[in-house]
Amino acid sequence: MSLNAALNLFLEEYPTAVSQLFTDNAVAEFVRRDVPVVVAQVIGENDRYIVHGSPGQGNWARVPWVAVYDRFITETAQDGFYVVYLVTEDFSGVYLSLNQGVTTIRRVYGSDAKDALAVRASDYIARLGQIDNSLIVGPIDLRVTSVSSLGAFYEQGSICAQYYKRGEIPNDEILGKDLRELLKLYLLLATKDLAAASVSSEEDDEVGLNNEDLINLREHKRIERNRKLAARAKKIHGYTCQACGFNFEMKYGEIGRTFIEAHHLTPLHTLKGQKVTLDPKNDFVVLCANCHRMIHKSEFVNCIENFRAKYVVRRSGRGTKPDV
Ligand SMILES: [Zn+2]
Ligand SMILES: [Zn+2]
Repeated sequence: MSLNAALNLFLEEYPTAVSQLFTDNAVAEFVRRDVPVVVAQVIGENDRYIVHGSPGQGNWARVPWVAVYDRFITETAQDGFYVVYLVTEDFSGVYLSLNQGVTTIRRVYGSDAKDALAVRASDYIARLGQIDNSLIVGPIDLRVTSVSSLGAFYEQGSICAQYYKRGEIPNDEILGKDLRELLKLYLLLATKDLAAASVSSEEDDEVGLNNEDLINLREHKRIERNRKLAARAKKIHGYTCQACGFNFEMKYGEIGRTFIEAHHLTPLHTLKGQKVTLDPKNDFVVLCANCHRMIHKSEFVNCIENFRAKYVVRRSGRGTKPDV
């Protein structure tokens, strides 16, 4: 299926589908499963991005969407910011929007959530600097019929967007180009977001780094703090440090059980903007807190074998080596 066909189906079939039963509905399934596949194909293979489609949960959403998440920023539509196809409530068109998660902001700001989204959107716009004038900058019009509709929040949350009118959906070449263009802005914003965060706090391993290295290190840490990825890595590699063999449970008993840190092996300098692999088996190791700090200080941040050979095995003088 082409992206053009997918967007058209959104506008042509979805309006009729909403009057049918939601459970086991073919159109709902199409939004959930088929559209994300088509979008993912346009992006190309890159573990950095996740594509997710939603026709609603338990019942039809007024504004169905398909989102692309940068895992360095978010893995859900609830917070952070992401690129998303949003269908207008009257099905007159589709927006491709760099937009913001609404759930968390609503929880934090309550009745001021829309203002908060708008303020943050202008802040992001300012951070992006020059935005191509083929894009709509700021709020979009999802033709919402109710101020409490989720769509009303997405209207304010839009940072920049492209609009496709029903009956005038462009071909795949243009759609693909637009999507890649927005992903480029997404990446730029993600990088600037990390840079901004770096001004406020300084951890000891960040002192003395130049700005680019600092951003890379922060991306690295963000990935390691990603709970789902870390959990998968730990499940596969276990809870014993792969560098020194330390096991928190053996030392501290019950409170140390399942305590270990996940370390991402991708070299920092190749992280930024490039294809990232996030395979919990091959791209992660588990390390105790000490080894984790030390591997970051060492020249072998992406090679556990070398790190262990030079800094752990030789110094410990013990014959026992943990399995890797
Ligand atoms: Zn260790
Ligand atoms: Zn690490």
